[in-house]
Amino acid sequence: MSTNVKQNEVVTCNDCFAEFVLPKLKRTVLKDLVYKFYFHCPDCEYEYVSYYTNQKIRRDINRQQKRWAKYQKVQTEEAGRKLLAQINMEDRLIKKDMDALFEKMEKELV
Ligand SMILES: [Zn+2]
Repeated sequence: MSTNVKQNEVVTCNDCFAEFVLPKLKRTVLKDLVYKFYFHCPDCEYEYVSYYTNQKIRRDINRQQKRWAKYQKVQTEEAGRKLLAQINMEDRLIKKDMDALFEKMEKELV
């Protein structure tokens, strides 16, 4: 099962093959203020980690939300294009950070 699934999506457990609607993600705070977002299979309790965030990632996501808000109010097409390009670039950087953090956290758990 991919952990990159959307809310309300029906997923199949890799462990017991139960089908269920993706539950609301739970959050646990780990050391260094890393947040783990995860859910359990309702049948076998197998834990799936969706993603992790650290302070930098949360700050970056927060800034992205502000950019999106700003984007709703841009006056010119040119300004909109520039802002959208920046948003897309930042999205890629955040994704890279999240992928790296995920890998690091999963390694530490082994
Ligand atoms: Zn299961």
